[in-house]
Amino acid sequence: MFQIKNYINGEFVPPNSGCYLDNFNPAEGEVYSQIPDSDASDVELAVQAAKAAFPAWSSLTREERSQHMLNVSRRISERLDELAAAESTDNGKPLWLAKKVDIPRASDNFKFFATAILHDSSELHDTDGLYLNYTLRQPIGVAGCISPWNLPLYLFTWKIAPALASGNTVVAKPSEVTPMTAYLLSEICDEVGFPKGVLNIVHGLGAKVGSAMTEHPDVPIISFTGGTETGKTIARTAAPMFKKLSLELGGKNPNIIFDDCDLENALRTSLNSSFANQGQICLCGSRMYVQRGIYEEFKTRFVAEVKKLKVGNPKADDVKLGAVVSKPHFDKILSYIALAKEEGGTVLCGGKPAETDMNGWFIEPTVIEGLAETCRTNQEEIFGPVVTIQPFDTEEEVLQYANGTQYGLASTVWTSDLTKAHRVAAQLHTGIVWVNCWLVRDLRTPFGGVKNSGVGREGGWEALRFFTEPKNVCIPLS
Ligand code: NDP
Repeated sequence: MFQIKNYINGEFVPPNSGCYLDNFNPAEGEVYSQIPDSDASDVELAVQAAKAAFPAWSSLTREERSQHMLNVSRRISERLDELAAAESTDNGKPLWLAKKVDIPRASDNFKFFATAILHDSSELHDTDGLYLNYTLRQPIGVAGCISPWNLPLYLFTWKIAPALASGNTVVAKPSEVTPMTAYLLSEICDEVGFPKGVLNIVHGLGAKVGSAMTEHPDVPIISFTGGTETGKTIARTAAPMFKKLSLELGGKNPNIIFDDCDLENALRTSLNSSFANQGQICLCGSRMYVQRGIYEEFKTRFVAEVKKLKVGNPKADDVKLGAVVSKPHFDKILSYIALAKEEGGTVLCGGKPAETDMNGWFIEPTVIEGLAETCRTNQEEIFGPVVTIQPFDTEEEVLQYANGTQYGLASTVWTSDLTKAHRVAAQLHTGIVWVNCWLVRDLRTPFGGVKNSGVGREGGWEALRFFTEPKNVCIPLS
């Protein structure tokens, strides 16, 4: 069975423990590879390698650093088919989705930040003609990047690329559930002659590898995407060391549909925003609020379309939903559906494991009606192909519902009234608002949430600012 290796100081190395964890193909429900069960001693090696590589990497010219990153971007594109197949096998997502979105975006992440640093500029302030103040933005050192399983290479590179482009070296940990494309990325770094020690990838459990990275005094900056509870643990650990943190956490995103919307567009896009990647995107809309005037029509047509979505073999072109990522996650989603019924919800469609010709973990896309706003199903993140739907009457009422959870990541608004769109967008307590569209992710725009959806922003200049330390230099002019 194929054994993934850690990538430390440009070498492919086994974990010091000699132990490995099973890695499952969620569509087959079978182990198909093994990953290092690394511990703090492996993290120590990676941090030392990254520390040693920092002076040379941070001293490269921007053009040189950019070129190294463009080489990685190009090679990701050249290995598109192989990376997409690996992502689909590891995660259960439809192959076409990995090929169309995940892997191209990973290549774009490297390309975007490789070129963004060539167009960077510095702030300059003239103090009454007496002094000149300017801001140096300097890399920080060894950056720790920890990513989840839902968009494995996409989110892994979304952190690594700006960290590297800014001149930091990196110790990174992918989710133990989806390690394969991170491993292939280390192969790519090796192929293109990426300088040794600049990017180090340590595989294994969050409780061992992730926490060792967070606890390490020589990792002054951590970029994390994952669950809110894990985010809290990281924040607690990092606080006494005053580490710089970016935490992109959970969501429970409202999808607000006013009765003056373009119904066809709202229906079509809501199918996607509810069930893309089996509902395992932090930006998926999981609470649908439909204004009463169109509620019955919208609900009937939406449920009819949901029933047509094909669930099954992720490698098939016509499949819309593949497998959910793991057996524990499958059980968790089903337990939430059971809870929704206990809480008085009516399952309009789905609500059970999907029948397929595979042995893995598939769930029917599920729509639930009739739940109270305050119930757990409407308050907690399920992170699967499950949405709730309910009517509302007024703008004020729906804003109260939309803002009434601990989360504040993203929201979607459907209306043809421009004034209302601006008014509602301004009042939503989320880091992102899409109006009459969903998941448009321009790499230049800030990305992140408020409340328990996290702190800090990724994307564009926000990411480059996060991964650098500003230093003010003040010089008298006479
Ligand atoms: P987790 O929080 O369980 O894990 C995320 C990463 O953190 C994994 O690599 C995990 O390792 C690691 N980890 C776990 N425990 C620790 C620890 N104590 N210290 C350091 N690292 C640790 O999230 P999931 O992987 O289950 O991902 C799903 C979550 O991610 C959802 O809540 C989703 O909303 C959120 N998410 C947020 C996004 C955003 O941008 N806001 C985007 C995408 C997802 P291991 O795999 O071994 O547990």
